[in-house]
Amino acid sequence: MVPGVTSDPLAWLDDHAANRATAGLRRHLRPRTADSPALDLASNDYLGLTGHPEVRDGAIEAVQRWGAGSTGSRLVTGTTTDHELLEAELAEFTGFPAGLVFSSGYAANLGAVTALTGRGSLIVSDAGCHASLVDACRLSRARVAIAPHRDTAAVARLLADRTEERALVLTDSVFSADGDLAPLAELHRVTRNHNALLLVDEAHGLGVRGHGGRGLVQETGLAGEPDVIVTLTLSKALAAQGGAVVGDERVRAHLIDTARTMIFDTGLAPAAVGAARAALRILRREPGLGRRVLDRAAEIARIAGVPAPDSAVVPILLGDPQIAHDAACTCRELGVEVGCFRPPSVPEGTSRLRLTARADLTPADLETLAEILIPVLAHARNTAVVPA
Ligand code: PMP
Repeated sequence: MVPGVTSDPLAWLDDHAANRATAGLRRHLRPRTADSPALDLASNDYLGLTGHPEVRDGAIEAVQRWGAGSTGSRLVTGTTTDHELLEAELAEFTGFPAGLVFSSGYAANLGAVTALTGRGSLIVSDAGCHASLVDACRLSRARVAIAPHRDTAAVARLLADRTEERALVLTDSVFSADGDLAPLAELHRVTRNHNALLLVDEAHGLGVRGHGGRGLVQETGLAGEPDVIVTLTLSKALAAQGGAVVGDERVRAHLIDTARTMIFDTGLAPAAVGAARAALRILRREPGLGRRVLDRAAEIARIAGVPAPDSAVVPILLGDPQIAHDAACTCRELGVEVGCFRPPSVPEGTSRLRLTARADLTPADLETLAEILIPVLAHARNTAVVPA
């Protein structure tokens, strides 16, 4: 045997797992059962539409018309007329001329950022951007500068000091871990003054912020601006799966030409297209759904003793990953599913419970939450953090 080489090529994974366990950072999949009675305060089903009969029917009718899969990449056989209808509807709803659907929001971010940048361009990304934008930066081959969270002056400095002609600024509209909002109006002033494009990830803004759920970009008055590009997910408020980019018609054409996550990926499954279209129809019919999510989020925050958020996301900081994990497990055992974010999803020392509001939460749901969450949080907040 070669010295230093063990006979088990996976032995290093045991060390890795042991280290993560010691740090309170192991992750586990927990399959839901179809009849699970747990109260869901962890999902992204913000409008509570995933199980809505019209959304289910939308998926079923699409499968009956097109079959289960889309059969190919978008440029070959994977574009149905329903894909194009969804793209037009998403664009119209968010206030942009054109839209392009991807197989996930992750793929939409990778595709848009890599297609709009490349060697010789600059990306300025907010430090709190979603992992998919972080990965998009890494894939882009552009020079990447990380601006401190929500710091528009820093963005302006980075743009002003650049040598590259082309620049793209990245931000989430609603940041996924803290639920806070990007300063979009100021950011757009900065990008316009410095001849840069602004890409906004509306994953958590669509359906919740803006007039009738049209998103924070619409709320800020930036819908339709030719130098603004918006990425969307269909998997949160729109209760389906998939992603999209909306923006100028030339952006759509360029992405069709060059976005690798569209060209080399199979088109979005028809069921997801049908479900998202149905959810969008419901959202148009019930424009108050987003407001209801924010009201429920304020109720959850009151129960948790934290400030009311500007989005569906209620973060409850506990600091230590093990304490956060134990608190989430106790909630789950008692019948409430809550999110738990630990590094690397959030910075060291900021592990937290992350609860998400849904428009369909009832007063009885919130009573159940209060009965379970208040004692769990009291215990977690009183648990001394043992220094390492
Ligand atoms: N952007 C943000 C801000 C997200 O939170 C997520 C999903 N967690 C994504 C993009 C990726 O979207 P999808 O799940 O559709 O891939």
